[in-house]
Amino acid sequence: MDVSVDRISEPWGGRTPHGRDDPWPARVDMCLADGVEPEQVERWVQTASILHSDGDAMDVAVKDGRMVGVRGRAVDRVNRGRLGPKDLFGWQANASADRLTRPLVRRGGKLVETDWDTAMDLVTARSRELLDEQGPGSIGFYTSGQLFLEEYYTLAVLARAGIGTNHLDGNTRLCTATAAEALKESFGCDGQPGSYDDIDHADVIALFGHNLAETQPVQWMRILDRLEGADPPRLLCVDPRPTKVARRATVHLAPRLGTNVALLNALLHEVIRSGRVDHAYVAAHTVGFDELAGNVERCTPRWAERICDVPAAAIQEAAEMLGTAERLLSTVLQGVYQSHQATAAAVQINNLHLLRGMLGRPGAGVLQMNGQPTAQNTRECGANGDLPGFRNWQNDEHVADLAKVWNVEPSTIPHFAPPTHAMQIFRYAEQGSVRMLWISGTNPAVSLPELSRIRSVLGQDRLFTVVQDIFLTETAQLADVVLPAATWGEKTGTFTNADRTVHLSDKAVEPPGEARPDLDIFLDYARRMDFRDKDGAPLIGWHDPETAFEAWKRCSAGRPCDYTGLGYGRLRGGSGVQWPCGEGSPEGTDRLYADGISWAHPDVCESYGKDLVTGAPVEAVEYRSLNPEGKAVLKAAEYLPPHEAPSGEYPYQLTTGRTLYHFHTRTKTGRVPQLNAAAPDVWVEVSVADARERDLAEGDLVEVRSPRGAVRGRVRVTDLRPGVLFVPFHYGYWDTPGGSAPDGRTPPRAANETTITDWDPVSKQPLFKTAAAALTLIAKSDGTPSPAPTTTASAPAGTARVRATEGGSPGVRVLQGAAEPWRAAHGGTR
Ligand code: SF4
Repeated sequence: MDVSVDRISEPWGGRTPHGRDDPWPARVDMCLADGVEPEQVERWVQTASILHSDGDAMDVAVKDGRMVGVRGRAVDRVNRGRLGPKDLFGWQANASADRLTRPLVRRGGKLVETDWDTAMDLVTARSRELLDEQGPGSIGFYTSGQLFLEEYYTLAVLARAGIGTNHLDGNTRLCTATAAEALKESFGCDGQPGSYDDIDHADVIALFGHNLAETQPVQWMRILDRLEGADPPRLLCVDPRPTKVARRATVHLAPRLGTNVALLNALLHEVIRSGRVDHAYVAAHTVGFDELAGNVERCTPRWAERICDVPAAAIQEAAEMLGTAERLLSTVLQGVYQSHQATAAAVQINNLHLLRGMLGRPGAGVLQMNGQPTAQNTRECGANGDLPGFRNWQNDEHVADLAKVWNVEPSTIPHFAPPTHAMQIFRYAEQGSVRMLWISGTNPAVSLPELSRIRSVLGQDRLFTVVQDIFLTETAQLADVVLPAATWGEKTGTFTNADRTVHLSDKAVEPPGEARPDLDIFLDYARRMDFRDKDGAPLIGWHDPETAFEAWKRCSAGRPCDYTGLGYGRLRGGSGVQWPCGEGSPEGTDRLYADGISWAHPDVCESYGKDLVTGAPVEAVEYRSLNPEGKAVLKAAEYLPPHEAPSGEYPYQLTTGRTLYHFHTRTKTGRVPQLNAAAPDVWVEVSVADARERDLAEGDLVEVRSPRGAVRGRVRVTDLRPGVLFVPFHYGYWDTPGGSAPDGRTPPRAANETTITDWDPVSKQPLFKTAAAALTLIAKSDGTPSPAPTTTASAPAGTARVRATEGGSPGVRVLQGAAEPWRAAHGGTR
């Protein structure tokens, strides 16, 4: 039976309970434009979700050459047909009237329309000029976690072997850099150990700084279904906010911001003290136990209580859960990653699993999560600074091997220093050594910290800025050249989710106007620049997505992220497949490290690791003596206090984050009526205790000020940890009179006006979770409520009377049904 559901007010839909070790039942979610019946859909075109990292498989409905809806793919291992609210409604953004349809160039201070030849000639001419005058280090690339694998790989080749620059990074630096780094520190190599399937088997699921209900809503549905089924798992939630996860948790710890390492060290202390270590596993598969045990010896729950402001008894209870789990699944995200000791903390979660031997078995795994749909590809293709195929820049043999794949001299590939991370690329642009910055698929004028600084960097005359995007974002408004891109549904490519599942996304409709796929733009640039290999042949020999994928397969061969067993034909029609998928693993690989640690040997590892305090790279010889056999490294870290502590002037801790209904800087979700209506503007979350003390109430207009800047929003009083303020970071200025920045008519609205230019020393991920801030009342509410949703972590505290967030879904219909009737009645893909 098909049921119509308001998936704004009920974001996770109905339940399909399943017991431990039972398969997760399918449920097909569908959204169609009003007036379109399923049988009127002309084609269903296969793809996966683009507005988060879950990789939910779906089909796009096409009628009269237009997208008219989506439905989940019951056959897929990731979502078994389910879709989250952003998947169900987000496709409508593609057809927005204000899509970029022609290239723009800056003339007389204004962006004016032009043709592709003129725009690309300008970009090429400036590139050549800079290469001649200042060399490859004057050109930088800042990309995304939302393009496709084929596009990142092409970008990595043209930047590294074509231009020869070390300045290439993705906005994944803000998002998954710590995930990658923590995996490298512990296992010698990037690569997600666990699988989403572990949710079906775990008896304890621990979520560290991970608001799964809002970031990956479909996997939260999977947990909800387990909670309703037989033998449900116990949940541990570490989060200062009253998230939906926290509300369902067996144990919820809400530590003081910036104290994760202290809390985790206390948990490790308890696991070791209570004899819960799997010593056989530790002896067989790890090095560093004695140092770790020594480091946490004094980290008792009482010690951590003073630092974290969490009762020692609650820490003990959490440790008991972790220590007695038969099959433990941990997930980790931004509450850990966007802090000053991000990698140090994320590594302690890996340590927990190594101590307990909880890896490589059903239900026993770690998910160091990603936020963006294609962040994994940015990392494996080398568009995040690392070398493609998880090759080690410090290992000359790896560089030579890559040079062979590209048929260039090893010296062509910059490997004289660590790859430049995004924050440093912007620093170089600020200081003037980077003179051209090509930004693709990301909006740093809203998403990077300390926005007044970022705007001034991007606004410099001496910096030539190219922006490739689908809308005239805040960043595009500051560019010298704007290239209109095609997006998901308008181009073909593959992408890989947070649990290594590779999906194919086929082109469903034509892009608007003259917009082009990012791959075509990069290929056009490489052709115009006439990049050559060492034999004089074109450096980039591919010409479309499928030939680019085949080229990537050659680069990935024999590496941990081996794609050689995959192909477009194999990925079309069925479920996505988890890499590695190659000679020894033709069916793909559900879990890494089932047979021990495989990529930490000094000859094969992606990284020799870094000092967890300074971030200084460990040298090869040091790593070889520490870990000659290539085991997992149990790396200890001492707790260090956050860099910016509350003070008399700035008495609160400020944390930023996101909401279920939006993605990033709202460039897409802000243009979707249902999503925008659910969370139309910025707000400020204040705890019950602080609201009482400051006489604040729902809807009061306040200003949050840090030493960098301020943001204004209406108050929502929640069950947040006292002393903490929360502001969502999605809101910028493209839909305000200010355009790209606050002005006399537009109060500051972007959370990153307040955040600090500072980063974790190891992963270089900026700190968005630990600033100090002041709070000032601007005006008492005139009855206008806070625009915060009531359905999420921003739900009002207690019995406060606030109108509930509802969709009503104008313009579309959302249905939810059993898998088989849908498939029988409406057919398969294409
Ligand atoms: S919202 Fe946060 S977690 Fe999600 S993709 Fe962006 S940076 Fe990553």
